[in-house]
Amino acid sequence: MTRLAIEQIPVLSDNYVYLLHEPESGATAAVDPAVAEPVLAALAARNWRLTHILNTHHHGDHTGGNLELKQATGAAVVGAGKDSERIPGIDVEVREGDTFLLGHAAAMVLETPGHTSGHIAFWFPDSHALFCGDTLFSLGCGRLFEGTPEQMWASLSKLRDLPADTRVYCAHEYTASNGRFARLVERDNIELAARLDQVTRLRAAGRPTVPSPLSEERAANPFLRADQPAVARAVGLEPGTEPARVFAELRRRKDVF
Ligand code: ZN
Ligand code: FE
Repeated sequence: MTRLAIEQIPVLSDNYVYLLHEPESGATAAVDPAVAEPVLAALAARNWRLTHILNTHHHGDHTGGNLELKQATGAAVVGAGKDSERIPGIDVEVREGDTFLLGHAAAMVLETPGHTSGHIAFWFPDSHALFCGDTLFSLGCGRLFEGTPEQMWASLSKLRDLPADTRVYCAHEYTASNGRFARLVERDNIELAARLDQVTRLRAAGRPTVPSPLSEERAANPFLRADQPAVARAVGLEPGTEPARVFAELRRRKDVF
């Protein structure tokens, strides 16, 4: 069992790039490098050599640094086989259920369509770490640019079913604004209230709210709770309504929030 060292690099206005380092082999990956320069600086500071680039999806704020990093380091680009046309510099195509090895650390590839049609997540069970790009955010989820609510609900349900002690490394610091919406959906949710207090304190101190434990997201993130009666009622639907329909209404309301 090999545990990764994980470094979080804030870039652009609200993106996070993650550096994953597998200490035995020295293999090191950058997840969703929006830009190259801060990643190269972080690698140099740690004396790590980049061997892989992992992309969750094709958007520029996740792949913008691919080619420059590849040229500077020779790293191999790993991305969705279903989206190979749109992942700059892709070398390794992965699919649902594939295992990707970063040195001795194994990641399972999960296809999570909805935000984009080819979106994937990388789950490292031994490190209790999920890199889920723009599918699941803390207290929120990605917009549906290329998918249906049914697809996105299925993708989020798949992530929700991972072990409770999984940590959710999402690609954006959107938690505070997500929280303002979440509070309107579930006013009486005690776990959500506690998380909102924590988020306020962290942001006031200039600290990230990401990663978060999956257990907390299950308890407080309305987009993982579309099958809860209180959430259905909050968006004007009967308890017992198909969760994908409740999810669709939540997402629609968040889009105009
Ligand atoms: Zn995106
Ligand atoms: Fe993004």
